[in-house]
Amino acid sequence: MTRIFSGVKPTGHLTLGNYLGAVRRWAEIDQHGADALFCVVDLHALTVEHDPARVHRLSRQAASVLLAAGLDPKLCTVFVQSHVDEHTRLSYLLECTATDGEMRRMIQYKEKAAQERARGGSVRLSLLTYPVLMAADILAYRTEEVPVGDDQTQHVELTRDLAERFNQRYGHTFVVPRATHPPVAARVMDLQSPLSKMGKSHTATGGIVYLLDDADVVRKKIMRAVTDSGQDVEYDRERRPGVANLLDVLAACEGGDPEELAGAYRSYGALKKDTAEAVVELLRPLRERHAELVADPGYVDEVLRAGAERARKLARPVVDRAYRAVGL
Ligand code: ADP
Repeated sequence: MTRIFSGVKPTGHLTLGNYLGAVRRWAEIDQHGADALFCVVDLHALTVEHDPARVHRLSRQAASVLLAAGLDPKLCTVFVQSHVDEHTRLSYLLECTATDGEMRRMIQYKEKAAQERARGGSVRLSLLTYPVLMAADILAYRTEEVPVGDDQTQHVELTRDLAERFNQRYGHTFVVPRATHPPVAARVMDLQSPLSKMGKSHTATGGIVYLLDDADVVRKKIMRAVTDSGQDVEYDRERRPGVANLLDVLAACEGGDPEELAGAYRSYGALKKDTAEAVVELLRPLRERHAELVADPGYVDEVLRAGAERARKLARPVVDRAYRAVGL
């Protein structure tokens, strides 16, 4: 069985981007006989200014959203990163494998560090080393495939480089994983500023659709999406990024091709209306299931406890072996 690992950061409420780029596929993978682990990567939420109570609350909420999205804990392992010490143990060995130059080249580091500085804040060292911890998350489970959105491509490449370098220096220890992306909507853009990614930790602009938004809120956000002053519905990511984003979202919801869908529309208004309804329908079962889970917090706790126990069992021998390989 193919070993699969992926995660989500509890830095905010999960978005339509998280769902279309990653979480929806996790639920499909789960049904197809893979051996998959899905993780709420809470340590990553500490790389920027954070509020302890909020991170705690959002971690649990992220876990229940994953279950509501269809992850079945009988078929896959759902757990919280900080419940399994092996991640940080392995991360240190990988810090001794990576170089500082490699870290400073990471696009997300450059962007997020610039944002922190612009706010007058300081940049936590963990923001720089975050991709190494992510590599540890993946490598500790001998992962073969990492289903993610486009924005994580560079980090998975780094993970591959570190695995290969470690294996070469210290003997074969890690499986070299590869990233997989959805065919459409691998990068959902902010509805109000379609040149930036829809990111859960971005300051809310009204351009972010959250998975737990009420149907009417979803409709409003999509109907107000920024397009351009043109009229023609065509799929052109450079010239019409807002329209292309709506077509991507609609295609991802309905399972079509965004370029072909464009031909079916004569106005932006009609495209927005259909996209809004498609998203509302797509998210309806998730919202309903989430409401049931909120009423049963003991169930989520038990899933996370059993998930961490299984994850520990898998990761410990891999990480122990890596410690022996480097001479400890
Ligand atoms: P965020 O940027 O929302 O904090 P995470 O780092 O928690 O996202 O990512 C969780 C998963 O969701 C990753 O696989 C990531 O690639 C995917 N993802 C995040 N934002 C988007 C987006 N706008 N479009 C597509 N996929 C996304």
